Amino acid sequence: MGKKILIVEDEQKIARFLELELQYEGYDVDIANNGRKGLEKAKDSSVDLVILDLMLPGLSGIELCRRLRQSSDVPVIMLTAKDDTSDKVMGLDIGADDYMTKPFAIEELLARIRVLLKRKYRSKEEDNSNVLEIKNLKLYKDSYRVEYNGEKVELTKKEFELLEFMMINKNIVMSREKILENVWGYDYFGETNLIDVYVRYLRSKIDQKYNISLIETIRGVGYTIRDE
Ligand code: CA
Repeated sequence: MGKKILIVEDEQKIARFLELELQYEGYDVDIANNGRKGLEKAKDSSVDLVILDLMLPGLSGIELCRRLRQSSDVPVIMLTAKDDTSDKVMGLDIGADDYMTKPFAIEELLARIRVLLKRKYRSKEEDNSNVLEIKNLKLYKDSYRVEYNGEKVELTKKEFELLEFMMINKNIVMSREKILENVWGYDYFGETNLIDVYVRYLRSKIDQKYNISLIETIRGVGYTIRDE
């Protein structure tokens, strides 16, 4: 049996297009054409991933996602209107895993689906591993040690924790709020400029020193580390 993907989208043409493409890739597909049905179906544990349009009649995609996250951590990819940065930020803050801007290339969406499904099924295994590795960068969780090509990179505790969080969530775009909440905690609520400062520290110690492009800025949204 293929993995089951739920499409929550009221525009029938888009829903049908996605359904055909996903079925062709071997996924089982279900469609909900409004927010309430979408929420009901997304809560079903047989669903492996949700593609969620934000502009929906009845219950909005943002509200659907917020309610879904009270009881489920199923991967969610949002579909947003072009350049609607505030929706992207809000969506990532309330727990969506990634987003695509309409119109999007289907290959790109399929690639992101694969990343999220892989992450969902591997996260347990990775949790048990002490070492994270991206490009030539290795991070040893237990010993707070980071190496680039075998050479030790000196980081402060917070720099290390930020890097660890970004590496664990590689290929996922993280909003500043989400990073702040996870790495700094609620006491720092609102101080999102901290993230920019610490990303700069990491870049000067890793990206600039080794002439690589590790931490990517997603303008108006946040940061990601890609490993593709
Ligand atoms: Ca729509």
